This record gives sequence, C-alpha cells and structure tokens, in this order.
Amino acid sequence: TVSRLQPFSSTIFAEMTALAVRTGAINLGQGFPDTDGPRAMLEVARSAIADGLNQYPPGPGMPVLREAIAADRAARYGLQYDPDTEVLVTVGATEAISAALLGLVEPGQEVVLIEPYYDSYAAAVALAGGVRRTVSLIPDGDGYALDLDALRAAVGPNTRILVLNSPHNPTGTVFTDAELRAVAELATSRDLLVLSDEVYEHLVFDGRVHTPVAALPGMAERTVTVSSAGKSFSVTGWKTGWVCGPAELVDAVRSAKQFLTFVAGGPFQPAVAHALTHEQAWVAGLREDLQRKRDVLSGALREAGFGVRSSGGTYFVCADITPFGTTDGESFCRALPERIGVAAVPVSVFADHKTPWNHVVRFAFCKRDEVLAEAAERLLGLA
Ligand code: PMP
Ligand code: GLN
Repeated sequence: TVSRLQPFSSTIFAEMTALAVRTGAINLGQGFPDTDGPRAMLEVARSAIADGLNQYPPGPGMPVLREAIAADRAARYGLQYDPDTEVLVTVGATEAISAALLGLVEPGQEVVLIEPYYDSYAAAVALAGGVRRTVSLIPDGDGYALDLDALRAAVGPNTRILVLNSPHNPTGTVFTDAELRAVAELATSRDLLVLSDEVYEHLVFDGRVHTPVAALPGMAERTVTVSSAGKSFSVTGWKTGWVCGPAELVDAVRSAKQFLTFVAGGPFQPAVAHALTHEQAWVAGLREDLQRKRDVLSGALREAGFGVRSSGGTYFVCADITPFGTTDGESFCRALPERIGVAAVPVSVFADHKTPWNHVVRFAFCKRDEVLAEAAERLLGLA
C-alpha cells in the first residue's frame, strides 16, 4: 500500500460488520436499513433491466435523473441547477466526495473537516494529496455544536475547501441555521469552497427542517452539494449519488469522476428519478418511522446504563460508555458482539483528536422493530 493510503487500511464498517457476522451479533454498527425502499421504485429498476437499459449511460448521468435531481432541489429548497451543466450523477455520495476533492483540491492545499467525520473524507483528502485540518464538535446540552472560533482559526491562506455534513454522521447533529450562517459567513469572507454532504437531508426529526448551505447568501456559487439515493430511499446498495453546484465546479468534479468510474450504474438511474419525483410521501413515512426508532433505541440504551446523546437526524445515536467503567470505545466495541451479541462502532475512529471521542460509541437504529427489540433485550445484559 502506498504511504498516503497506509493510515486507511480497512474501514471500521467492514471490520465491525465482519465481527457481527462472525459472532452472529445484531449489527447496529454499519448504518444500513433492513427493509426495502418504495416498491414502485424497485419495479422501475427491474423494468429498466428487462427493457434493455443495460449499457453505459451518458457520462454525467441519464437526463431523466439529472432533471429529477434539479427539479427536486428547486421544489424543496428553491435552488436552481441546470440539469445539463450543474448536476452530475455519481457512484454514491462516496464517489461524489472523492471526485470533488480530486477535482478541486491541489496537492498541498488544506481541507477543513469537522470531526468526528465520515471516514471516507480523510482518505479522499489523502488521495487528492490535500492536507486535512480538523475541528472538533463540542458538547452542547445533550447534543453537539460547531466550535465556531476553532473553525475560524483552522482556516488559513492555503485553505481551499471546508467539508460540511448536516445531518451529521456519526453524531446525528443537525446544525442550526445560526451555525450554517456562521459557516457561510466564514466561507464568503475567506473565499472558501464548501463541500456539503447532505445524504441524510430527508432524515431529520422533531419537526426540524434541513437547510442546504447552498441556499444561504453568497453560497450557491461556492458550494458543491452531494446527496444520494441510498439513505433517502433505503437502497444503500444501489450506490447512486449526485453532485449539484455551479457549472465550473461540477465540471472539475466530472473531470475526476470520468476516470474513476466513467459512469454510474444504468438501471438504477430511472428508478431513482422515479423516487425523487413520486415518492416524497414514502420518504415522509420513513422519516417518521426513523424518529420512532431513534426513541426506541435511545430509551433502550438509557435503560441499559449508557449516557445517551440526543440525535436530531440520520440513522444514528451516540452513547457515552463511561457509566460502564471505561472510556475506551474501541475496545468496548471490539468486545461487545461476543459479550452481548450487539455490534456498534467507536466514534474515535472518525476523529484525529481522539480524547474527546474515546468514550463515545455509535449505534444505528435503522432496523426493523423486532430487531431493535431484541437488541434492547441484549443491551440490558450490560447492566
Ligand atoms: N456521507 C455520509 C455522511 C454517509 O453516512 C454516507 C453513507 N454511509 C456516505 C456519505 C456515502 O453514501 P453512498 O453510500 O451513497 O456512497
Ligand atoms: N454510512 C454508513 C455508516 O456510516 C455505512 C458506511 C459504509 O459502510 N461505508 O455506517
């Protein structure tokens, strides 16, 4: 392995999922749902294969999907993107993020990440030859907040881009409009690009509303927004994502993307276009379901003795393990499947500054009710 990839030899998700499979544990580590997306959407994908849509789709993505993505962002957020030049279909949000950093960051330029960060960010920065600067979220009440002073201090003359992720994996934090405005103010005053990972845009709870940072003043021209069908329509295996942004920035992303994968999988594209156009009611049901599941798992964790943080969105809730007499989340998660038959992931693996996160572990609640009920039983075994 080349040196720039050596720190990233295996992902925590692969490791914990393998451990869960080996031990027969309930996998609340890797975040993926255990039920299917909307039936009509699945049917469109089946028909696309039956109808012979099985060769390379156009490089930027099928027009039907690019148009649906643009129409969706216009309808929900009032953001206007030209489907021909300002929308690019990618192989999941993961490729979108990697291609964006490869296409937009010169070797040696700095990329600001908010930690804990989704694991692919650091690896993608390294692939691009960028230098990462990380700023830790800080505890705020029973949730987390942006450390705006630290964020301002992390931006220097060589900073190219700030990666923002709200709703936030792994903490479930949904940044407030005041926090987003502060980020926008920083980006405009320091002439930064923002890469906004919004894969959980639909999965916000308790009446929260997702605000895309691109909608704030001065941000449309400097924001590359990434999302994906995986979380919105419960098809994480379809790996169909997209990038929206100004033509010049999307073109830079496309330059990298075309040599990573050339195109994204064909038959999924009309199906995702269908979902964006016709399945908003299904998504609203998913959101309600997940909010209830969050409450169920949070309650079970509390009952088992964890210190539970509040989650305002995503698939995830974070918990403090110090009540169990340890602050070593990595060892805790490595032992948990054998100990009680449940898998979780340690949050410290998503952070460069480990100390504030060692005692925090992440649980996914995007599972069927009976699975969560069984997990709740098993968690009581820790008490
Ligand atoms: N960003 C975040 C914050 C995620 O949680 C995920 C999914 N695990 C991704 C990106 C990747 O999404 P995709 O599966 O569409 O590549
Ligand atoms: N997004 C999911 C998570 O955070 C899965 C990621 C993955 O498997 N790479 O758990």
